[in-house]
Amino acid sequence: MSDVELTADDARFRRDVADWLADHVVGEYAELEGRGGPGDDDVGFDVRVAWEHELGKAGFIGLGWPVEFGGRGATLEQQVIWAEEYTRAQAPARVNHMGENLLAPTLIEYGTPEQQERFLPGILRGDERWCQGYSEPNAGSDLANVATRARLEGDEWLVNGQKVWTSSAHVSHWCFVVARTDPSSERHRGLSFLLVPMEQPGVEVRPIVQITGGGEFNEVFFDDARTEAGLVVGDVNDGWRVAMGLLGFERGVSTLAQQVGFERELDHVLALARTRDRTRDAVLRQRLVDAWIGLRLMKWNAMRSMAAKGVPGPEASISKLFWGSWHRDLGNLMIDVLGPDGLIIEGAGADAGSYELKLEQKLFLFSRADTIYGGSNEIQRNVLGERVLGLPKEPT
Ligand SMILES: Cc1cc2nc3c(=O)[nH]c(=O)nc-3n(C[C@H](O)[C@H](O)[C@H](O)COP(=O)(O)OP(=O)(O)OC[C@H]3O[C@@H](n4cnc5c(N)ncnc54)[C@H](O)[C@@H]3O)c2cc1C
Repeated sequence: MSDVELTADDARFRRDVADWLADHVVGEYAELEGRGGPGDDDVGFDVRVAWEHELGKAGFIGLGWPVEFGGRGATLEQQVIWAEEYTRAQAPARVNHMGENLLAPTLIEYGTPEQQERFLPGILRGDERWCQGYSEPNAGSDLANVATRARLEGDEWLVNGQKVWTSSAHVSHWCFVVARTDPSSERHRGLSFLLVPMEQPGVEVRPIVQITGGGEFNEVFFDDARTEAGLVVGDVNDGWRVAMGLLGFERGVSTLAQQVGFERELDHVLALARTRDRTRDAVLRQRLVDAWIGLRLMKWNAMRSMAAKGVPGPEASISKLFWGSWHRDLGNLMIDVLGPDGLIIEGAGADAGSYELKLEQKLFLFSRADTIYGGSNEIQRNVLGERVLGLPKEPT
């Protein structure tokens, strides 16, 4: 966006949001210096929750949602401007990506008016955080193998089963759960998309400590967990369609917000390379330039996805494959720029959590996950091969 001519409206919008951010990213918000992104999630959490409320009060959550659902109906250009100014201001990393960018567009597309009225305002105010209950021990890439079950008893669903790798479950109020509601069904038939409250006796959350030392994801156990009969999105037993629609949002459009963080990280690598006098290394210099070019391509791809209205199709897999690989490579680059220092870890003990990682080491380790979550690279290639290019299906 910096490279093209802005309309007068867009220029005014840029000035307004830059002024607002300059006035508000102060005190403890400024002290965070934009930290708290993926892999760094536990940093300044309470401050970031307070910041989310500030954003909510000023109407900066749900920027791109339609006005009739409480959003600002901001244009694509304005959303890009917001993301750019947000990076520039080093505003705190956001806390409710799943609610704002995944569940909300799904509710707007597939939810009932009652569900929309009930859940969208809590997200817009920054009050209600959401997590994603898809993966299970035997259902990751093969999501249709979901074994968590839900049955109707009176006016409630009773949910039983286990989810795993549930990001932010320990700090979420609600979980959107893919569960089998037709016990005789197999594979993707007979599943439903349920909205389940987390704060109840039937839900147990156990954090998983990662190699980065953080515990941003969890195991979640449902043991007769309850939710209201009406809290199923789409038709009962037709949850696969809704679950896939949400994945389209996850793989495509929502990456714009994520790119805010990527831009900041790339700036950091460039600054590091300069201060460590690494830019004279021709191979490293070329990798830095490649990273810069890759980020531009990613932005334009995200804008192309966003410009297409409705539920993103399989082409969202292009974005996921591209950004996942790009960010993993940025992690490698960061460690290579550090040189031998990158290999030294401060602190005692080999157990995760017992050592102090440098920010760059955290990113290197966490970015290994980028080619796995939201659908692994291999799965994205299958989707593209089969559903976009029309190649023969792989043998099962
Ligand atoms: C940081 C992080 C956060 C996550 N957050 C969440 C969350 O909030 N909610 C949630 O529900 N899940 C979450 N996940 C889980 C994520 O969606 C799964 O890890 C992912 O879908 C892969 O599933 P899996 O781990 O079971 O691996 P598997 O499916 O067992 O795959 C293992 C390997 O086999 C490959 N493979 C599998 N099938 C095929 C195939 N048909 N063709 C070729 N190769 C194949 C995969 O690419 C992979 O390399 C998260 C994961 C990570 C790493």
